[in-house]
Amino acid sequence: MTAVAGVFGSPIKQSKSPIIHHHFAQQFALPLHYGKQLSEPETFEADLARFFSGTYVVGANVTMPFKEQAFAWVDELSVQAARSGAVNTIINNKEEGKFVGANTDGLGLIADLRFHEVDLRGKRLLLIGAGGAAKGAISALVDSGIHSAAVYNRSIDRAESLIEQTTVFADCDLSLLTNDCKAFDVVINATSLSLTNQVPSVPNSIVSPSTVIYDMVYSDEPTTFMQWGEQLGCAKTIDGLGMLVEQAALSFEYWFDKKPSTVDIREQLRKG
Ligand code: NDP
Repeated sequence: MTAVAGVFGSPIKQSKSPIIHHHFAQQFALPLHYGKQLSEPETFEADLARFFSGTYVVGANVTMPFKEQAFAWVDELSVQAARSGAVNTIINNKEEGKFVGANTDGLGLIADLRFHEVDLRGKRLLLIGAGGAAKGAISALVDSGIHSAAVYNRSIDRAESLIEQTTVFADCDLSLLTNDCKAFDVVINATSLSLTNQVPSVPNSIVSPSTVIYDMVYSDEPTTFMQWGEQLGCAKTIDGLGMLVEQAALSFEYWFDKKPSTVDIREQLRKG
């Protein structure tokens, strides 16, 4: 029996998820067919229903722009998904006849930061962005022992509502970025700006030589945001490739109850 899973998105051609999941499946000699599913907002729900009507379908990943629609579609939510309002992993719980929605983006980010030996405990953090990726991330970040988090976003109302929604369950201070802030220990760019070679409009004073820069966008070359951090002499600059791998590993674990190693696939993807 070959298990079936797949990733829904638009666009989806560029997705590395099939390579990652087939690599994980090989580690356990587990037959898996993981495909790419192009969809549209108007047909997404029908496409999901058709996909899950197949045999041996264990689950699906959901990427841009469907994470919020997936949140609304599932029967039950994990804590991270409920907090972030977005689902990137659907689990087909056949025994209970339920589709469970999870969000592995935030814990994938934390796992990648750990891989890069970034200890978040007691740290002052700046999160740039307030879209789906930022929502997924902040839920896990506030659980990671940080001292405080500031949020900056082009549309301030979205940053405000992200803070408001997170304050309900956060143990740390949350605020909007202010003009007179000190440099942060960790700055996470959860916007798509590096895709168009732009940097967020934040002052250089938000970083110091000890700051760690993290860009959720990944690319073969250092992203624009990483280059900005490098020019300012930041201690470390990291892109989002490891987050992609780690969030996939957590999805795989949900479906198969097996924890894959992420070491080799990180290297393989980096080599291209
Ligand atoms: P959304 O479309 O939900 O959010 C986009 C964010 O970028 C918003 O904060 C938006 O600000 C900001 N933004 C976009 N264009 C501009 C601009 N011209 N100037 C200023 N701000 C801008 O996308 P997601 O949050 O889902 O994804 C964001 C990025 O994170 C994507 O590039 C995605 O590929 C990456 N990502 C990476 C993952 C990984 O595993 N590495 C996982 C998930 C996402 P505003 O609210 O003002 O519009």
